[in-house]
Amino acid sequence: MRLKESVSCRLPLLIRIEMVNFEMAKHACKICKLVISQGNICPSCKSGELTTSFQGTVVVFDPSSELAQKLGIKEPGRYALRVK
Ligand SMILES: [Zn+2]
Repeated sequence: MRLKESVSCRLPLLIRIEMVNFEMAKHACKICKLVISQGNICPSCKSGELTTSFQGTVVVFDPSSELAQKLGIKEPGRYALRVK
């Protein structure tokens, strides 16, 4: 029961963050797939290899989650699922 309550409380916040970030998202890092809203250098891996051609994004809040581990994500943030 406690888990269900915490999920339903967190959901509206996640959706709000998603909508705000969607407007700002312009580039994705080709190396670590982090979505970057401003600047020309990835703040995570310091790579300058950014692309505007990316599909689908996922917001990772908990890097220890199964999803984050499957995607190889170690830092919380917004990531592209596919980078061209
Ligand atoms: Zn990067």
